[in-house]
Amino acid sequence: MMSLGYNTMQKQIGAIGAQLRRSLPPSHQLRACIFALFEALDQNDLGDASRLSLQLYSSPESRSSLDEYLGRDASKFMKHVNLLARVARAQVTFLEIVHELPSFSRIEVICVHKQRNDNKRKAHTPFNLSKIFRLLQQPLTEQTCRQFVNPKLNIARIEEDFIVRQKQGLHVHAEVQIIQHLAQARIAIDSADIFPYIGCSKLSCYMCQLFLDAYSSFKIRGCHGKLYNQWIIPDMVNIHPDTAEKLRQTVEMLQQHLLVELGKPLLWSYGPHA
Ligand SMILES: [Zn+2]
Repeated sequence: MMSLGYNTMQKQIGAIGAQLRRSLPPSHQLRACIFALFEALDQNDLGDASRLSLQLYSSPESRSSLDEYLGRDASKFMKHVNLLARVARAQVTFLEIVHELPSFSRIEVICVHKQRNDNKRKAHTPFNLSKIFRLLQQPLTEQTCRQFVNPKLNIARIEEDFIVRQKQGLHVHAEVQIIQHLAQARIAIDSADIFPYIGCSKLSCYMCQLFLDAYSSFKIRGCHGKLYNQWIIPDMVNIHPDTAEKLRQTVEMLQQHLLVELGKPLLWSYGPHA
């Protein structure tokens, strides 16, 4: 599973592409590959775009040619090409593993589509600083703000940050998308057909690990421990009542856990003038 900022990459590569179209000589050996990549991106063909990106990124000759024709923009261009290449690289690696391990003798590939509006949604019930401190059963003072939120910021600044954060769109992380798919397809997470492992190209975040541990026996490759404020469990439709109940209990457990963790003073040192 991987999450790609595809639209951003498409724009960045397209902008540099216009420059490349002008500067690459008509007979240059890279022209066919580069132009095929632009065409794949124009047509939103992620498969071809990724395959061509991998081809481009893996060739030292291509990289030195791009340095020559793009100058300082070459590294920015190759950064996006490398990100796009990750899809094809993951596919190649997966196929190599499949050929090595007998447990992969029966494979079904299912594309999980992200619900379109999840990232545009805002928090149902926006929080403010006073509400958070009431939940933590702490008075809202400069001292408690330094103790529980940030030792270097005052209340006014932290309140401003909260307002900005509450306006940000929410994100359904890849691990949660898998759980959402299984729930909506009414596939039991403890079914013998499900191998209890979610493989991701990146380490999972704090909330994903917490959620998976509370809801399932799925294992992951590890957790980087970061907490993202826009993390959500999205609305799910057509799910079995037992699944809905299990999700409800899981959300309650997460809330309880977070209240305990947020109620612990920060671990870094702070002083009265910090
Ligand atoms: Zn996550």
